[in-house]
Amino acid sequence: LLITSVTPLATSQSPATIPSEAAVAARVDSLLAKMTVAEKIGQLNQLDYVNASDDAILRGDVGAFLNLADPVEINRVQHLALDRTRMHIPLLLGFDVINGYRTLFPISLAQAATWDPALVEAMHATIAQETAAVGINWTFAPMLDIARDPRWGRIVEGSGEDPYLASRMAVAKIQGLQGPQLGAPGKILACVKHFAGYGAPPGGRDYDSVYLPEVQLQNVYLPPFRAAVEAGAGSVMSAYMSLNDVPASGNAALLRGVLRDQWGFRGFVVSDSWAIHTMRSEGYVENLDQAALRALKAGENMDMGSQTYLKFLPEHVANHDVSLRELDDAVRPILRIKVLMGLFEHPYVDASKTEATLTDPAHRAQARHAASETAVLLRNEDNTLPIAPSIHSIAVIGPLADTPAALMGSWPAKAKKSETLSLLSAIRERAGAAVQILYEPGVPIGREPQAELNPDTITPRPYNSDPPAPDSPIAKAVATSLKADLTLLILGEDASMNGEYASRASIDLPGRQEEMMQAVTLAARKAGKPVALVLVNGRPLNITWASTHVPSILEVWQPGTEGGHAVADLLFGDANPGGKLPLTWPRSTGQIPIYYAHNATKVNQEAADFKSFYWDEPTTPLYPFGFGLSYTTFTLRDLKLNTSEIQSGGSLEATVVVENKGSRPGDEVVQLYTHQRSGTAVRPVRELKGFERVTLQPGESKTVAFTIGPRQLQFWSPATRAWGVEPDDFDLWVGDSSRATLHETFKVTAPVKIAAGQN
Ligand code: BGC
Repeated sequence: LLITSVTPLATSQSPATIPSEAAVAARVDSLLAKMTVAEKIGQLNQLDYVNASDDAILRGDVGAFLNLADPVEINRVQHLALDRTRMHIPLLLGFDVINGYRTLFPISLAQAATWDPALVEAMHATIAQETAAVGINWTFAPMLDIARDPRWGRIVEGSGEDPYLASRMAVAKIQGLQGPQLGAPGKILACVKHFAGYGAPPGGRDYDSVYLPEVQLQNVYLPPFRAAVEAGAGSVMSAYMSLNDVPASGNAALLRGVLRDQWGFRGFVVSDSWAIHTMRSEGYVENLDQAALRALKAGENMDMGSQTYLKFLPEHVANHDVSLRELDDAVRPILRIKVLMGLFEHPYVDASKTEATLTDPAHRAQARHAASETAVLLRNEDNTLPIAPSIHSIAVIGPLADTPAALMGSWPAKAKKSETLSLLSAIRERAGAAVQILYEPGVPIGREPQAELNPDTITPRPYNSDPPAPDSPIAKAVATSLKADLTLLILGEDASMNGEYASRASIDLPGRQEEMMQAVTLAARKAGKPVALVLVNGRPLNITWASTHVPSILEVWQPGTEGGHAVADLLFGDANPGGKLPLTWPRSTGQIPIYYAHNATKVNQEAADFKSFYWDEPTTPLYPFGFGLSYTTFTLRDLKLNTSEIQSGGSLEATVVVENKGSRPGDEVVQLYTHQRSGTAVRPVRELKGFERVTLQPGESKTVAFTIGPRQLQFWSPATRAWGVEPDDFDLWVGDSSRATLHETFKVTAPVKIAAGQN
């Protein structure tokens, strides 16, 4: 479903000529006509560069590499492929450029917190530019997995819980990476991943089998992928795990049924790393021979890393288990994308210019601005932030205060720690000589990245234990805090604690940070001193105690190379936080999963126990989806609909006035939610259907307009097993979070059927 309009891009980015579909098809067919079976299978093979050999390239056994990121070597292997193989087919060079190459932008979850697709598109244009300057022509991004369980480590790599917000982000990223069409200069091929349902493992355990009913798959998990495919994404990565007991790498219903038959996708599908191979250990196939056969038949075009296709497909073709036509159908989309990318004409990179592009100061400036736009102010009692001019000494406390790696996240690509300023250094730099900075790391945090805990040796974590000994890290933190006018607690997770293979059973602050935070806060507050908590992390953490005790809480996520500067800008008021949560923030691990777009539960006035609830925890989250404060205040008023009835296929326009009532410039994200009151299926209590981030000067107001029509009101009904709009009564709210209160109602008078491929 096309969820957002496509922003036109500058024509200066367009290549001189765009080949017609017929010309591309003719070229691909003429290549196929000349290729041997072995050369065709070679195109399906993506080899990890650690296993590379010139012989393999020269034989035509390699269609793509992964993990090669050296421009000189890239030119050399491209020359081998183009000049010295029989078919002269260029290589795809794939790399995980997730939130930047040398200049790291904030991680994806943080990008979603900007609620600013134009900014996200611009960041991705820079990401593409740096990546292309290395000669890498393909990134394994964006990750479009909806995630509603913060225990899952990879929640940090996506756009949060909401299909509409995630779809808008998906389109922005595809446009930024690929440009108006494949082959645009300075652009690279995107790969949307992980198709599909990877973000919903039980208990948040990475790679675990996922079970999703079709109604959830259709309405929640697939829309961002569909939006990306409609925006022209050229490749898709299938997921590691099995969906409803069928591995995604061998899942014909997903790879052929949904992607190609329903959505008309014409790019290629690559497996996740070694995922064709792991169909054996999962117990889907007896041996690798069968793995190759079933993956190919299911529609998996390219084998990432495992060389299972390379080893086992030749025999299947020789036996006619795989027909030549099936083989050609697997190769065709890969060649088609190589042709469309202009790789045959422009395979090389000017390595003499690489370094200058990677260190372009404009990229750093953009990253600094972007990082400041991602921060979410969760609490700000007594205007603790920004730091007042009356503050002459600051205690900076916490294990993440002086760790640049924590700002970079788990996909640092080729970014340099030495080019990333820690928060402590940046705060020092900004504070200047007039403000004394005291630093105490306090309790250490860390994990053994690949180790599983041994149940026999694990010791229970000390928690709110007896008062610490005078020389303990916590005692030192308290003493340091008491010496300063203001304390900044910099807590959260280091980069190894989230991302792939980094799921957690609990969302509590790792290590003894909670204990330290409580001790420092209580002592400082008793002494009448302000405290602010700066969270560096990749998932919501349990900050329920902090939410009522620490006066100010600023979520800065993993903000990237310029994160230090950006956070200093925010703390000292040179920038004003305007980000909003892209997910619901739980009070505790036990509340997971918790998300705003849930269905209403039975509420019966006489029998209150029909309502879904816990007796030991509120049902409401700590912070709602879409929430975030600012150093200024906004009001929203005058919600108006231009009609209260949507006739067949039509739309309505909602307008609202937003005003900055405070004394600083700032950003507000105006959000629109709808609810269908009844229908062929129960609909969520509210669903995001529009948003706009606006910047307003003090006293300034602006009218924001939203269009609501079939694209926003359609859903996939289990009754009709199709997408459509149903005639019904609807609620519409506009506000500054998912708790929006300005309310109107409207009616849809006639059904709109949405045929496959049209929404
Ligand atoms: C991850 C992918 C990544 C790939 C290549 C896998 O383990 O799941 O997201 O793109 O590795 O590095």
